[in-house]
Amino acid sequence: LARLYSPVVTLSGIKVDLVAALVSLNRVQEVLNFKPHIMDRPDARKLPPGQGASVVFSNVSFEYPSSTGLSIPSLMGEKLDKQAPRGPTLDRFDLTVEPGMTVGVVGLSGAGKSTLARLLVRSWEATSGRVLVGGMDVRRLTLESLRSTICVVSQAPFLFNDSIRANLLMAKPDADEDELVSVCRDAQIWSVIEAAPDGLETIVGDGGLQMSGGERQRISIARLLLRDPRVVVLDEATSHLDNATENALQQSLQPYLKQRTCLIIAHRLATVRHADLIVVMEGGSLVEKGCHNDLIEAGGLYTRLSRSIPRYPHES
Ligand code: ADP
Ligand code: MG
Repeated sequence: LARLYSPVVTLSGIKVDLVAALVSLNRVQEVLNFKPHIMDRPDARKLPPGQGASVVFSNVSFEYPSSTGLSIPSLMGEKLDKQAPRGPTLDRFDLTVEPGMTVGVVGLSGAGKSTLARLLVRSWEATSGRVLVGGMDVRRLTLESLRSTICVVSQAPFLFNDSIRANLLMAKPDADEDELVSVCRDAQIWSVIEAAPDGLETIVGDGGLQMSGGERQRISIARLLLRDPRVVVLDEATSHLDNATENALQQSLQPYLKQRTCLIIAHRLATVRHADLIVVMEGGSLVEKGCHNDLIEAGGLYTRLSRSIPRYPHES
C-alpha cells in the first residue's frame, strides 16, 4: 500500500504546479497562437512574396465555443465583460485594409477587437465568412507563412525569463549590437536598459528586473522592430505608456509602419487618431468608420467614446 500511496502523494504535491504550468502554457499558446486543432491543410501554401499585404474580413461571423475551459483572456489579466449579452462575438463583420494602410480599431471592452487579431493569425477560425491576407484565405496558408507574415503585439506581451538580449534575438538571431540598441531607442526603452546595471544582459522577470507593464510593452515593440512582417497588429500594445512616451513611440514607429499594413487596436482614441481610417466596433459589428474629424462630426459612438472612456490612472 505504501508503494501505491507514495506516487499519489507525489502526484497531489505537483497538482498546484500543474495548474501553474497550465497557466504558463496558455500564455505561451496565446503568444505562439498555437491551437492543437488548427493545423496546416494538406494543400496549404505559402503566401507568395511581395510588397505589403491586404487584410480583408469578408462577412465574418464568429462565436467562441461555450466551453473553452480556461479562458485565455482572463488568465492574461484581461477583464471579460460579464454583462455583455451573449451572442456572436463577431456579427457579419466587413473590413478591407489595403496594403500599406493603417487602420485604427476602437470600441468598448468586449466589442470583439482582439478577436479580429485572433482570427487573422488563425488562433481561431471564423464560423462563417472569410478572412484573407494578401488575397488568400488564411485557412489555405501554412501557419508558418501566415505567422511570419503577420506580427501581433498584445497588451500583455510574453517575455521569456531570460535576458533582454535573448528576448530580442528571438526575433532576429543575427542582429548586431548597433541594431539592438537602435530598435530599443526607437521603442523608447533604451534609457531604461542603459540605466540598468546589467544593460541588455538584465534578466527579465522572476530572476531579474521586475518590469512594469509599459516596459514589457516597449521591449516587445523593440522585438517587433527586429522582425520584418508585412502586416502588423498592435492590440492595446501601448496601453500602459503615458501620453508623452506613446507620442514619442508613434513618431519613431512611423517609418516602420508606413511600408506595412497595420491594424491598431486601442481603447484610447489618441492612439489611433492619425490612422488612415478609424473603424468603431460595437457588439461584434462595425458601426462607424471614417477619419477622426468625420467621426467627431458624425456625433455617434466615437464621439461618445471620446467623452466617456475612463482615462488610465497615470493620465489623470
Ligand atoms: P475586445 O478586445 O474588444 O475587448 P474581445 O475580442 O477580447 O473584445 O472579446 C469579445 C467577446 O468575446 C467578449 O464578450 C469576451 O468575453 C468574449 N471572449 C473573448 N475571448 C474568449 C474566449 N477565449 N472564450 C470565450 N469567450 C471569449
Ligand atoms: Mg482586447
